[in-house]
Amino acid sequence: MRSAFELELVNGPTGDPVLFADLIQGGRAFLFDLGDLAPLSPRKLLRVSDVLLSHTHLDHFCGFERLLRVALGRERTIRLIGPEGTIERVAWRLASYNWNLAASYREALTLEILEILESGARRRARLALRDRFRLGPVEHTSHADTVVRAEPRLTIRAVVLDHAIPCLAFALEERQHVQIWRNRLEALGLGIGPWLRYVKEAVLQEAPEDTPITARWRSAEGVRERTVPLGLLRREVLDIVPGQRVVYVTDCAWTARNVERVLALARGADTLVIEAAFLDADRAQARARHHLTAREAGTLARLAGVRRVLPFHFSPRYAGRFHLLEEELRRAFEGRPGAPADLPGDVRVGA
Ligand SMILES: [Zn+2]
Repeated sequence: MRSAFELELVNGPTGDPVLFADLIQGGRAFLFDLGDLAPLSPRKLLRVSDVLLSHTHLDHFCGFERLLRVALGRERTIRLIGPEGTIERVAWRLASYNWNLAASYREALTLEILEILESGARRRARLALRDRFRLGPVEHTSHADTVVRAEPRLTIRAVVLDHAIPCLAFALEERQHVQIWRNRLEALGLGIGPWLRYVKEAVLQEAPEDTPITARWRSAEGVRERTVPLGLLRREVLDIVPGQRVVYVTDCAWTARNVERVLALARGADTLVIEAAFLDADRAQARARHHLTAREAGTLARLAGVRRVLPFHFSPRYAGRFHLLEEELRRAFEGRPGAPADLPGDVRVGA
């Protein structure tokens, strides 16, 4: 098992776009888009450290207040990455409320917003309850690559897509995954417990071989404890494998540039979560709304060579026959003869 993230399409494939990605044993979660968040418990919302916002159409952004209400009186920072215009849009939304009681909060939320622009420019700003969410200076930087956040354990990439407005697609990837073998652990006379989390952190931070690790676990005889060097665990009980990669694509017109960018981002991903809004028979409607058809989404998943694909953001017009979207996507993904969509114009499918 090399899952770093537990994924939940919060409103299923037919409701507002929201993907909750819980970082296993990481004590935090990522939220892709802010559609209706009502099904998410406050406990889960309080795990959200980062919001990855594709764009600010209502169905992707209307849940913002729910996150705000749950996190408002907590001493925490939530990072939000979004497309051009996100800083002002969030600031305007916050400015529509009265914050005269802000000083009475002992603990207070801060939002750190990063905007990714088509030009490679980035804009960064903070909005804090302590400042009544007044927008301060906006910092400008410029970057050539797609990495928008780099941490010891994780990388987040973003590309700008065309949805008649700028829209972001994201890749969330664990750099390396530490796989612990239970049977090998038991062979050393050790038991599983929360201590393994520290082992993983120490391995990923390349701590020295002689780093003492205190193993503590429950057994039939009660709580047991033993201290072992990290090097022994590294040699005997764990493997380091490439990390899991989750790619999130919505909403996206079927254009050559979008196709190239999605393929570059999604190539070899473990899971591609992708909009499949319309049936290919309604392609004209998909074009008019700058969305993908299920066939196009399945074709992208196949060309990118992803391990699994989760379609979502089905148009409500297919109520009662949503399975047709799922089937059309599967046919294109599995590459059954004649099923994949023709690529737009001058698209180049290369490495
Ligand atoms: Zn949209």
